[in-house]
Amino acid sequence: MSDCIFCKIVRKEIPAQIVYEDDVVVAFKDINPAAPTHILIIPREHISSIAVAEASHQAILGQLLLASQKVTAALGIEPDNHRLVINTGANAGQTVFHLHVHLLAGRNLGWPPG
Ligand code: IMP
Repeated sequence: MSDCIFCKIVRKEIPAQIVYEDDVVVAFKDINPAAPTHILIIPREHISSIAVAEASHQAILGQLLLASQKVTAALGIEPDNHRLVINTGANAGQTVFHLHVHLLAGRNLGWPPG
């Protein structure tokens, strides 16, 4: 989508601190971090939300989650001490309508989240 900010990051039209990318996903530092490590992992393809993902996206969704392993390895953070979050819908805190997984680490992560 031409006006989607995350699509612009995928196309390298706006800067981002990319920590990992492959042919399916891009991972970059969140501009307003909520933890010492706060990475956003997104599919290159524009999918506005997990709520509208389709069966045809199954492989992409799998790679989106598995990319978290690549990100923790790339950043040298503990692979089993982080949280993955997908805010879905404005009332659940989604502000960018291009599917993204938050990877949070580096502080005590309480439960339930706010
Ligand atoms: P959401 O609230 O779950 O939709 O998360 C969107 C996230 O994108 C927020 O944590 C924002 O700080 C982050 N964000 C918005 N614009 C940019 C950007 O241009 N670069 C990096 N992160 C961004």
